[in-house]
Amino acid sequence: MRVLIIGAGILGASAAYHLARLGAQVEIIDQNHPGKATLAGAGVVCPWATEADDPDWYLLYARGARYYGTLIEELRGQGETELGYSRVGALVLAEDRARLDTIEGRISRRIKDAPEAGTVRRLGAGEAKRLFPPLRDDLEAIHIPGGARVDGRLLAASMLRVAISSGATLRNDYVSLRLNDGRAECLGSDGRPIPADEIIVTAGAWAAQILALLGLRHPVVPQKGQIIHLHLPGVATSGWPVVLPMNSYYMLAFDDSRVVVGATREDGSGFDYRVTARGQLEVLQAGLGIAPGLADATHIETRVGFRPAGSAMRPILGRVPQIAGLTIGNGLGASGLTVGPFAGRLLAGVVMGESAEVPLERYSPTGPEAG
Ligand SMILES: Cc1cc2nc3c(=O)[nH]c(=O)nc-3n(C[C@H](O)[C@H](O)[C@H](O)COP(=O)(O)OP(=O)(O)OC[C@H]3O[C@@H](n4cnc5c(N)ncnc54)[C@H](O)[C@@H]3O)c2cc1C
Repeated sequence: MRVLIIGAGILGASAAYHLARLGAQVEIIDQNHPGKATLAGAGVVCPWATEADDPDWYLLYARGARYYGTLIEELRGQGETELGYSRVGALVLAEDRARLDTIEGRISRRIKDAPEAGTVRRLGAGEAKRLFPPLRDDLEAIHIPGGARVDGRLLAASMLRVAISSGATLRNDYVSLRLNDGRAECLGSDGRPIPADEIIVTAGAWAAQILALLGLRHPVVPQKGQIIHLHLPGVATSGWPVVLPMNSYYMLAFDDSRVVVGATREDGSGFDYRVTARGQLEVLQAGLGIAPGLADATHIETRVGFRPAGSAMRPILGRVPQIAGLTIGNGLGASGLTVGPFAGRLLAGVVMGESAEVPLERYSPTGPEAG
């Protein structure tokens, strides 16, 4: 079966990886738009503390975190070493003790069937600061040992590498779609049809542009995020946990003395790919308010990404029933680096006709808002 994948962010890369391993002939086309979310995403993988409570969304969020264990082992087995994934643990913070109690109760309920989260415990302020030294002196925390961080760039590149070594091809182009006798047909930027038995659209925040050509209203829009990368010269940061202050901001560290502070959530942003003064101020104020020890860090860069955000906080995954040969994966929003690898496996299963391990009708592209 010849499968064409439009968009090679974390979701398209995962679909390609799983399809190639299932024996499909895979072609991946990616335009690498400025603001590709996978290149900007922070990489927090820790679903258990979230306050959002849509059960369908949470199901994929939690399964996404769990699937990392399997995927990382599989990729290592393929000789892949540059994965950027580490189970460094997470510190969940709150300004007052009563709120921390409520959050702890929610985490305890959720992890009953999530052994991968590890044994959760409360830390005093000194203990939390020992794990993440730039933190304020007075912050107690809940420690979740199974919390992790991932470098989406490295992980997506690794899945694509394995897909290509299994026969997939990857090229850079901007493609469009048209209807041909009830089937979806893909056209390259030169106007030539690209032959395929099945097309998967994993085009993130840009997907609505090409799906509109098929008469589909696709309810995913860009939500801009500005995220700041800092450097602490000479400081060993690789074991530092992810820090979740339970607002929309967070911090995490990578191996190269780098600390990432994120991020703005700019609804209605369109594709405005600019670092703004207000965005910088907002993120730094939030970050330094929790971790004043970062005040003297070197600013390396500010990344900008467009989260594929739906008005319903729920991924879209599945076949479009009224158009033959068309499957859509999208709407991963602010949690796509967590959900993407697992969701890509689900998409591969849909196209190969396998029975799904979660009830996919809940995520249908023809749900109430689409079609
Ligand atoms: C600042 C920020 C922080 C984040 N932090 C986290 C986090 O901590 N944890 C977490 O789980 N998630 C996080 N996310 C969310 C996550 O990054 C996204 O949900 C995820 O990367 C979306 O992946 P995707 O593959 O759907 O889309 P993308 O990565 O955007 O990829 C879509 C690709 O499709 C291509 N494309 C589109 N149209 C066409 C076309 N017509 N032809 C060819 N190619 C096309 C684009 O060029 C692009 O390369 C964050 C996102 C941002 C922006």
